[in-house]
Amino acid sequence: MGYSSEIYEEAERKLERRRILSEQELDKRRNILFLRSPRAEKIEQTIAKTSVAAAKAVFGGADIKTELEALKRKNLALQNELNEILKSFGFPENYLERWYKCDKCKDTGYIDGKMCDCMKRLLRETAYDSLNRMTPLSLSDFESFSLDYYSKTPVAEGKLSPYTQMNGVLGYCKKYAASFNEESRSLLFQGAPGLGKTHLSLAIAKEVIDKGYGVVYVSAPAILTKIENEHFDIKKTESPAEQIVTECDLLIIDDLGTEFTSRFTVSAVYNIINTRMITSRPTIISTNLTLTELQEKYNSRIVSRIIGMLDRVEFVGVDIRQQKRRRQNSIKRK
Ligand SMILES: [Zn+2]
Repeated sequence: MGYSSEIYEEAERKLERRRILSEQELDKRRNILFLRSPRAEKIEQTIAKTSVAAAKAVFGGADIKTELEALKRKNLALQNELNEILKSFGFPENYLERWYKCDKCKDTGYIDGKMCDCMKRLLRETAYDSLNRMTPLSLSDFESFSLDYYSKTPVAEGKLSPYTQMNGVLGYCKKYAASFNEESRSLLFQGAPGLGKTHLSLAIAKEVIDKGYGVVYVSAPAILTKIENEHFDIKKTESPAEQIVTECDLLIIDDLGTEFTSRFTVSAVYNIINTRMITSRPTIISTNLTLTELQEKYNSRIVSRIIGMLDRVEFVGVDIRQQKRRRQNSIKRK
């Protein structure tokens, strides 16, 4: 499934909070009950004492069987009395037990060393949250992608209208997300800023995460700076960020080409993409640059390799953010 170690650690912390919370809630419930019924508190203490006595009897030798039977009977009678008290207050029978969020694994996340479904769900949610935190926008989905911003008039004779083209792109992305698996193709989202590349790549990310895959979404400048810092940190022999981006099930690199280019970043970009291609792991790259601009920025060896391996998805139209701003301004003026 391939989540980063940070995601695992965060999920473990969430589980721990659940366990602490269930203990605190039990304490609260006991206090409420004992305030109303001092007898209940007495019974609980006696039951605790009888189990100690039972343990002593086992080690004591003497007539173990009779003694244990007597203790058992006493315990049962006390338990029944306690249940009656709970019932008289209208409390459920398990009132004095811990209420776990997941009864199967008792909020430990594992059953006999195997990961419980609740842990899998938690990992998915955590990956989803971290994705959300990294992006300035709230997580986009396909439903919120509006085709209203794309003109139905073809830009040139014999060409598709932006609306028709983008309708096709939307359909393609939906299909890609729905059928995503380890062998899915890698994609190159290309087009001017503000045409929905980030929105649709996040929509794909969301659906692929929901399917249980480990998805990492990064902006090219942010991840390259991180990798560069880790590489030049003498205390570290390897770069965890680089490992995460090369090993996740789906990597989405947003805004390739907006990073500051140096020999280091060019080779880092090449290494990430190349490693993922060799190990057949799908990657989605989005860029505002044209092919010629990409070739100028990186070297043609990288660009030709990238282009050869990726399916190009072309975004067309007029900057949506500008259109939205214009609409808002005209509303304000009215
Ligand atoms: Zn569980």
